[in-house]
Amino acid sequence: MNTPTPNRLNPKLRIAVVGGSLTGPTTALLLLHAGFDNVALYEAVPASAPLGGGLIGLEHSALDVLDQLGVPQDEFVRYNSEAVVEFAVHERRPGAEHRHLYAGRNTTWSLLHPALTRRLPAEVLHTGKRVTGLDTDHGRPLLHFADGDTATADLVVFADGRASTGRRLLDPHRQLHYAGYVAHRGQTDTILPGLADFLRFEPDRSGMQFNVAPVPGGTDWTFYLGATAAQYTDFFGAAPTRRVFALPQHVTGTARAAVDDSAQRYLPDEQAALVHTTGTRMAAAVMDIDPPTRMAWPVGDGHAVLIGDALAPVRPHTARGANNGIEQAAGLAAALTQHRKYGADLATALHGWQHRHLPAAVAAVELGPALARRHGLGA
Ligand SMILES: Cc1cc2nc3c(=O)[nH]c(=O)nc-3n(C[C@H](O)[C@H](O)[C@H](O)COP(=O)(O)OP(=O)(O)OC[C@H]3O[C@@H](n4cnc5c(N)ncnc54)[C@H](O)[C@@H]3O)c2cc1C
Repeated sequence: MNTPTPNRLNPKLRIAVVGGSLTGPTTALLLLHAGFDNVALYEAVPASAPLGGGLIGLEHSALDVLDQLGVPQDEFVRYNSEAVVEFAVHERRPGAEHRHLYAGRNTTWSLLHPALTRRLPAEVLHTGKRVTGLDTDHGRPLLHFADGDTATADLVVFADGRASTGRRLLDPHRQLHYAGYVAHRGQTDTILPGLADFLRFEPDRSGMQFNVAPVPGGTDWTFYLGATAAQYTDFFGAAPTRRVFALPQHVTGTARAAVDDSAQRYLPDEQAALVHTTGTRMAAAVMDIDPPTRMAWPVGDGHAVLIGDALAPVRPHTARGANNGIEQAAGLAAALTQHRKYGADLATALHGWQHRHLPAAVAAVELGPALARRHGLGA
């Protein structure tokens, strides 16, 4: 048995996590639970505004990570159904239902995000801190913020999402590509009578899909519809590569009318009415990214890693984005614990973590277009 090597051990390893949505807070909590007491989490917006993925399916491995963190499932899962019910729709009429079970549970960003962040000590979470740059100071990674502040760390974990600054700095050649369709989203404050499961409607006109599920106080829907990049710009005021999420204030009357029109033409009456009566709407451009080839980089004498959507945003149908982030965070905390407790070489620990998690991230990136082809989306 090897004994710890004190000269390679940094018990006060300072870890800066960038991004306070889902992957970042999970990472910070895991590190605190693992005994790291020098962790800072930097989030750009003053109080995280809802981003993409209203409804988020979490698989058992991710649910177990949250369980181990002491986040009870009933705090973020309000509807216990594991059922996914699919309907082929012909001339606006749903056909026979096909039912299968999902190996996980559905949550929403607005349940999970507060369940995580309320557990972060106040001195760990720094909101309103937008990272703009990374260089070194006497060999240590040094973060620069939009407000002119700086902060040093031994390890920087970029969990700053689809339009990641960390990815731009560490892996600048990997590009986001618009996939040619949009996840239009809405949430009503009316609950469809009897709705307990996740329902999927597939109109026989290919290139669209409508998902609906119950959420606390209402009904959440996602309508996948094709749109050229020019149409996207017309709908949401900026190109898909520039505005990857369209928040309610970006959704124009033209976008609303186009979604309402497709609902009227292709969805059954009940689903079309749900769309038509939805006031607040959002959207996410469906994007692909060049597959990642690495997750960790040396920065001076320290390191930086990409994790979650910052590493590789994946198409929503894979239902893997948040799962990937949480699983990568758990793996990272395990690798860093081997360094902290037993003196494992830090660069080797990070390499081992990358070796285990990179293939799953690449597979999820590749799965998206394959699933979309099967459903005729983005064609
Ligand atoms: C329609 C839809 C359905 C989905 N369904 C599922 C599903 O069923 N299952 C699943 O696993 N995933 C799903 N996803 C994906 C999931 O929502 C994302 O993968 C997940 O939210 C990514 O979390 P994240 O914390 O890595 O990144 P994000 O949620 O994008 O968060 C990034 C954070 O970083 C902050 N930030 C950005 N730049 C900076 C900066 N420079 N400095 C400081 N902070 C910064 C942002 O403000 C934000 O808070 C879905 C997505 C969509 C759009």
